Amino acid sequence: KQMIAEKEKEEKVKKGNGGGILTTKLFSELYISELTAKAIREMNYSHLTEIQARSIPHLMLGNDVLGSAKTGSGKTLAFLIPAIELLHKASFMPRNGTGVIVVCPTRELAMQTLGYVIGGTNMRNDANQLLKGINLLVATPGRLLDHLRNTRSFNYKRLQCLIIDEADRILEQNFEEDMKQIFKRLPQDRQTVLFSATQNQKVVEFANFTFGQNEERQKKLVY
Ligand code: ADP
Ligand code: MG
Repeated sequence: KQMIAEKEKEEKVKKGNGGGILTTKLFSELYISELTAKAIREMNYSHLTEIQARSIPHLMLGNDVLGSAKTGSGKTLAFLIPAIELLHKASFMPRNGTGVIVVCPTRELAMQTLGYVIGGTNMRNDANQLLKGINLLVATPGRLLDHLRNTRSFNYKRLQCLIIDEADRILEQNFEEDMKQIFKRLPQDRQTVLFSATQNQKVVEFANFTFGQNEERQKKLVY
């Protein structure tokens, strides 16, 4: 019986839950704050997926990362855990403004991730939220650029980390020019993180372009 139970446990570790391959690395082995650890336990996640195990250590060290892994492999937590830990370590409060921005190509993805600003909704409502201070902001490129240009209450002076989720889709949807305008306006001394389902020359070039602006950070490709 015990052998069967062991075998089943092993299979579960191999297969994963959400389609992502689980590794033998445990969330409880990560050096993270108790609140984050508790949230992970409450989601009943025990083992890290492959992309999480490969990218989280680099991300927690502040390196610039391009991570590629297929859909369903757990990329969201790979970037959210380090992002939340970063804000926690820097003791970010609402009055400190936005410390992390996550750019997503579509409204649906932005809404699935966290508090967001997206096109097609009321700019003034966003502006009121931004005035109160959103430490971790999820936005689509067009609306983010709009706020960077026009919303005076948007405080991003202390931005620590820019995350671009689904970088391959951002490029496919011709957001490259918006992204370049966004990069120009954001503080240069920040961590930059890209995640994508597929890896191609365009994504790598895009990553190198965004990383190139802060040369003192290590640059890592993980997949
Ligand atoms: P991706 O962005 O790579 O497509 P998601 O981040 O959306 O993948 O994750 C896919 C699914 O896997 C989600 O339901 C998520 O909650 C689940 N998941 C993520 N990490 C783990 C983990 N370590 N253990 C179990 N399930 C996980
Ligand atoms: Mg995703």
